[in-house]
Amino acid sequence: MKKKKIKSKVSKLNKEWHLSHVMPKNATIEQRIEWHLAHKANCSCRGIPEKLKEEMKKRHIAY
Ligand SMILES: [Zn+2]
Repeated sequence: MKKKKIKSKVSKLNKEWHLSHVMPKNATIEQRIEWHLAHKANCSCRGIPEKLKEEMKKRHIAY
């Protein structure tokens, strides 16, 4: 008999954050920047895309 091991890649905290912070489908650059800044502070499942980093540099937003 094999025991099934259930491993979640995303921790409960991160999952909850994602559930309450869903990126809008037609998100503007500003909304995406805001989302990623909030995401970075709460979760580390993925980084900020290079394209968005460039937009943040243009706006003098630290990330
Ligand atoms: Zn995440």
